[in-house]
Amino acid sequence: MTSVSEADIAHLFHPYTNLARHPETGPMVITHGEGVRVFDEAGKDYIEGLAGLWCTALGWGEERLVAAAAEQMRKLPFYHLFTAKTHEPATRLAEQLAGLAPVADAKVLFACSGSESNDTAIKLIWYRNNALGKPDKKKIIARERAYHGVTIATASLTGLPVNQRGFDLPIDRILHTGNPHYWRCGQAGETEEQFASRRAEELEQLILAEGPDTVAAFFAEPVMGAGGVIVPPATYFAKIQAVLKKYDVLLVADEVITGFGRTGQMFGSQTFGLQPDLMTVAKGLSSGYLPISALIVAGHVYEPIKAQAGEIGSFGHGFTYGGHPVSAAVALETLKIYAERDILGHVGRIGPVLQRGLRALQQHPLVGEARGIGLIGAVELVADKDRRTAFDPKLAIGARVVAKAQAHGVILRAMGDAIAFAPPLIISEADIDEMLGRFRLALDEAHGELAAAGVV
Ligand code: PMP
Repeated sequence: MTSVSEADIAHLFHPYTNLARHPETGPMVITHGEGVRVFDEAGKDYIEGLAGLWCTALGWGEERLVAAAAEQMRKLPFYHLFTAKTHEPATRLAEQLAGLAPVADAKVLFACSGSESNDTAIKLIWYRNNALGKPDKKKIIARERAYHGVTIATASLTGLPVNQRGFDLPIDRILHTGNPHYWRCGQAGETEEQFASRRAEELEQLILAEGPDTVAAFFAEPVMGAGGVIVPPATYFAKIQAVLKKYDVLLVADEVITGFGRTGQMFGSQTFGLQPDLMTVAKGLSSGYLPISALIVAGHVYEPIKAQAGEIGSFGHGFTYGGHPVSAAVALETLKIYAERDILGHVGRIGPVLQRGLRALQQHPLVGEARGIGLIGAVELVADKDRRTAFDPKLAIGARVVAKAQAHGVILRAMGDAIAFAPPLIISEADIDEMLGRFRLALDEAHGELAAAGVV
């Protein structure tokens, strides 16, 4: 029999991987996990500094989620929600999400991934504007460096070149505006407040240039995740929302990463004062244990859709596995655990420990900016701290530091030269110290090599 690595190289088509190099470098085989740690084939342990893909909020080995899945699996392993069928797990989960989310008169439509829910949001917005007799109001604005998924429409919203180059994207009707990264995009002498105003003015200019009657919605992650963990200035969303209201443009909050406590409140929308018309959640909804996502829409978004579907005879959208009973049962148990263990209180206490630790790294010669909120953050590596000069991308410094961190037993993710941290929400102070200690070894090694090579 072939080894897992051999079979992987022979047959597994990897997402987000350098496919040309993969046959030589091979995969990293993860076998199991416990708490905030995962283990490889050789038994070496790693602190999972990104909670897998920002999702495993309760860490590995949470038996209550296993039991919830097994119980539901025995009782009703599959049923769907088409043609007015329903089941208790999906219904109770919809009820809970409608109660938790800051979305008025909410209705909840389930899917299996963040991409699907964001894609569905675009479809609903188009459908609604047709129903309202505004067939030209269809353009959607996202931000440079946004991440909203990888379907044809959501990869078009995603503002990262790697998701579009070679894929014939973006599609029509998708526009991008600047992101709220003050440290990188603020101009000389500009305060954070002035920068936020400038971003809102740019948005307004874009809407006016396109024609307000053609612009339907604005998508935003409260904290941008895969774009490098970008925390907006305090007044940014208030200014942006004033523009959106003025031109009747809907706000879609993509809470796929920020939902369920990551920023210290239940939703990033609450932390940053967003009043979304639609909201998408996934990842932490089931602590990543099973695929499930939800699109939460306000009553005023739902009503015209309802009327139109009534006229057509059916609402022509839905995924076979949307609201899967086993995933929904696991999500319900996840929400119960968040409440019982006061996960928000824990993030409130422990988030500042991570943030202080990251800010302390700012003293390191390679770190240009340390940023974050709650249990999400990043450090951005630069060639020249004073000038904030980025490294030549060909040097792939971020990826090199992440590889070194992995050798020291901490799994992180590089977004260019920004290195992201989003550990399981259950992480302890001691584990944060250990994670950052291991990371610092990687930074020191990288700095030594770069200095020896005369790069810094
Ligand atoms: N939105 C955000 C903010 C995300 O971070 C992600 C995934 N990282 C997605 C959407 C897409 O989710 P999925 O990978 O489940 O399709």
